[in-house]
Amino acid sequence: MRKILIVGGGAAGLMAARSAAISGGSDAQITILEHMEKCGRKIYITGKGRCNATNDCTRDEFLREVPRNPRFLYAALAALSPQRLMDDLEEMGCPVTVQRGRRVFPASEKASDVTRALTRDLERRGVQVQLHADVQHLLLDGDTCRGVRLASGHEIPADAVIVATGGLSASGTGSTGDGYRLAREAGHTVTPLRPSLSALESDETWMHELQGLSLQHVELSARTGKKTIYREEGEMLFTHFGISGPLVLELSSHLPDDPCESAIFLNLKPALTPEQLDARLLREIQGQERRQLGNLLCALLPSRFAAVFPSIIDLDPRKPAGELTREERHTLAGALQQLPLHVTGYRTIQEAIVTRGGVSVREINPSTMESRLVHGLYFAGEVMDVDAHTGGYNLHIAFSTGFLAGQHAVLGA
Ligand SMILES: Cc1cc2nc3c(=O)[nH]c(=O)nc-3n(C[C@H](O)[C@H](O)[C@H](O)COP(=O)(O)OP(=O)(O)OC[C@H]3O[C@@H](n4cnc5c(N)ncnc54)[C@H](O)[C@@H]3O)c2cc1C
Repeated sequence: MRKILIVGGGAAGLMAARSAAISGGSDAQITILEHMEKCGRKIYITGKGRCNATNDCTRDEFLREVPRNPRFLYAALAALSPQRLMDDLEEMGCPVTVQRGRRVFPASEKASDVTRALTRDLERRGVQVQLHADVQHLLLDGDTCRGVRLASGHEIPADAVIVATGGLSASGTGSTGDGYRLAREAGHTVTPLRPSLSALESDETWMHELQGLSLQHVELSARTGKKTIYREEGEMLFTHFGISGPLVLELSSHLPDDPCESAIFLNLKPALTPEQLDARLLREIQGQERRQLGNLLCALLPSRFAAVFPSIIDLDPRKPAGELTREERHTLAGALQQLPLHVTGYRTIQEAIVTRGGVSVREINPSTMESRLVHGLYFAGEVMDVDAHTGGYNLHIAFSTGFLAGQHAVLGA
């Protein structure tokens, strides 16, 4: 009987257990070791409780959403494509629905249904789950992994160990970064860990003053040197520390390790050409020459933003609109379409959606997810140095790499 231990019962660990149970049948004993009181705690909070489990796209479309190490995922996506995951979820009793941007959710829009479907399936397949089992060390015998040691000191032998401990984000769900320590113990390189899909901090007081203000249909762009690295329309939010919201999280995954190396711009009127915007400003001014600039801008911006906008570009908000020089009007129009947003850094990794960096994928065989350094040791999910944009891709990376790791760990190849 081949014994497989899976460290971590998140998306990657649950799927690893499922594929190991399917491939190993009655010849395998599969155990998930989970240090929390239940499995899949992070799944519950994904997609604002709705769980955007995958994206109904092709392999090439998927890989375009993976900014770092996309080629590492070829075999995992071949083993478990988004379409197969959707079929499998349906088969496990969790029907799915495809929504805007081909994002896939459980039809009930309840993340708990995904976890329930997976855990029930594992029960049916005889997978054992040990809760409150905190894995502290790997049992290493030269270049072979022979099991794990729990915090209690108890040692559990195994033929293969899959490390699926997640990253460092939202550690309250159990992902406390232990997998990085286990990987280092086994001689693996862990690339620098940073927040991704993260809000951005700024020291500009005007942003802090606008906290709570949400902007729809605006465009954010980012440039590093002369290269535009991001340009997208959507929704963003000012906060007490800077900026957040879907568009900002998405932008963050395109930015370099130090976001200050990029220049970020906000276009508040992306639907208008510069000429159309200038004509619009002229129209607003005509007949309202005595109106103060801060008031006049309410026709183009939310009132809170309109009140402070002129000062951001060194214009007096109380200045009568009719006294604006042509040059000042052009400065105003330019800023409405290309307002620099000076950011000073990411929010903490704890608050980010995913962790960028992790166990170096150069040291993991992409066809099997086995360590290239230690036999019998496998990795799956966010613990590895691979992350993606929003849209269901990160969970799919966890599910598909878990699937591949489980399949190969049980076969010992
Ligand atoms: C708020 C939020 C919303 C998100 N929404 C989405 C979304 O809608 N779609 C999407 O694609 N992605 C989303 N993500 C990202 C996605 O949830 C993760 O990328 C994914 O869950 C990673 O899966 P994983 O199995 O690798 O790690 P995790 O889900 O973090 O699981 C790791 C497991 O290992 C356990 N563990 C850790 N250390 C030990 C140890 N020493 N011993 C035993 N057990 C241990 C943990 O308790 C945990 O259960 C979201 C993330 C957050 C924070």
